[in-house]
Amino acid sequence: MDDAYKTSGGLTEETLDPLDWGDVQAVSHRVIDDAVDYLRDVRDRPVWQEMPANVKDVFAASLPRSPSSLAAVYGEVSRTVMSYPMGNIHPRFWAWYMGSSNFTGALGDFLAAIQGSNLGGGNHAAGLMDSQVVNWCKEMLGFPASSSGTLVSGGSMANIIGLTVARNTKAGIDVREHGVAGIEKPLRFYGSDQIHSCHRKGMEALGLGNRALRRIPTDAGLRIDMAALRAAIAEDRAAGFRPACVIGNAGTVNTGAIDDLRGLAKLAHEEGLWFHVDGCIGALIALAPRNKHRVAGIELADSIALDPHKWLHAPFEVGCALVRDAAAHRSAFAVTPEYLESTPRGLASGEWLNDYGLQTSRGFRALKVWMALKQHGADKFGRLIDQNIAQAGYLADLIEAEPLLELASPPSINIVCFRYQPGLAGQALKALNTEIMLLLQEQGIATLSDTTVHGEHWLRVAINNHRTRSTDLELLVREVTRLGRQVAAGGFRREQ
Ligand SMILES: *Cc1c(COP(=O)(O)O)cnc(C)c1O
Repeated sequence: MDDAYKTSGGLTEETLDPLDWGDVQAVSHRVIDDAVDYLRDVRDRPVWQEMPANVKDVFAASLPRSPSSLAAVYGEVSRTVMSYPMGNIHPRFWAWYMGSSNFTGALGDFLAAIQGSNLGGGNHAAGLMDSQVVNWCKEMLGFPASSSGTLVSGGSMANIIGLTVARNTKAGIDVREHGVAGIEKPLRFYGSDQIHSCHRKGMEALGLGNRALRRIPTDAGLRIDMAALRAAIAEDRAAGFRPACVIGNAGTVNTGAIDDLRGLAKLAHEEGLWFHVDGCIGALIALAPRNKHRVAGIELADSIALDPHKWLHAPFEVGCALVRDAAAHRSAFAVTPEYLESTPRGLASGEWLNDYGLQTSRGFRALKVWMALKQHGADKFGRLIDQNIAQAGYLADLIEAEPLLELASPPSINIVCFRYQPGLAGQALKALNTEIMLLLQEQGIATLSDTTVHGEHWLRVAINNHRTRSTDLELLVREVTRLGRQVAAGGFRREQ
């Protein structure tokens, strides 16, 4: 216990702080130097690599009871965790849908942890910054300043916040007091058949159940079919349900399709429904000068979920829920127990930020977003969004120019679905493309994911990455065709 000391009262006390900060300072400088190198050289490393057994073993070790030096702890982290990343900060990571982080944001997370504030609320600077970042999100989307919002763990939680306010507002009873069992007519929510899986989790968690979310068919562009939506609402009313909420997609996860947001706003208004927009992918397109017209109408929503850890490239995690009717938002969550009552002055004066969501303690997520927005300016993020959308168009052109590749459809934003097509069909074609996708990962070349669109299997490239260059996309096309030829020639068809 070299950090223990004797008190004047004769007690032995210890703390997590070192008695000598010099050592901490030296290790910390090394951590920062290594971190800068790590990002500077990210392009030279494989996107992803399988962990060897001796690395996996490290994470099976049991609880450490005795101390190690900070330098030794950092050394182990450096050899294990830092050496085998998911890869989403790499310029050729295009799987699923995530941002690629940024150094300033990482510094923000570090400083937030150093300050250590709890953003449950209170009268302190971090609280004001948290509210300011929410206000900046409203500004980026053209949402009214009078609306409310909260920073949450991500888009899933942001959607659940919106759906909760929708349920409580449209239930016709006091759901908080009586629960969903007290709702007279079962509520119905609507979204397209392309809706993200988090809405299902949300419906389940809200006690409404998966079946209360009606999946409406989509058109050829995978946008919600408005006539089918109207018909479903009428059918439900006639059958004794209470249509409560329509969820619009500003960018679907499969293909980036953007529903007719203006049309949905009008329909919701006419039918008396809550209009929630899942803007986890596309809400921030409102910042992008060349593409913002694509999400026009988003500002008409009753609530919006957006995801700064996607197109603002904030380090995980940070999502944001915005709600037009601030009073409805607050009354869906606020509880003031005696130990959280406000005082007229001092630290506990003012509103509690945790009155706008489910968490009591909240992390200081705002700082990483704030610092990156201040440093680069919001306009740069808008240009980077335009850049990714243009890159998706470029990749689609490259795919169309290559006879062995097939494009699913022209990309609507930054998601490109395609496959290697040597004249196969069905399971054989799916197996061949799955093998190409896995080889791309295992050889550390690129990380893609796959999906099913209109019943067909496709490789999927989501370019949400400020490090991607056109040359990376050229390399992808070359490597997919090389691996495709190799796999097909290797007797792959016979094995299937
Ligand atoms: C990513 C995403 C979500 C979920 O957001 P998380 O930040 O992963 O929780 C929801 N909807 C869409 C359309 C998404 O792309």
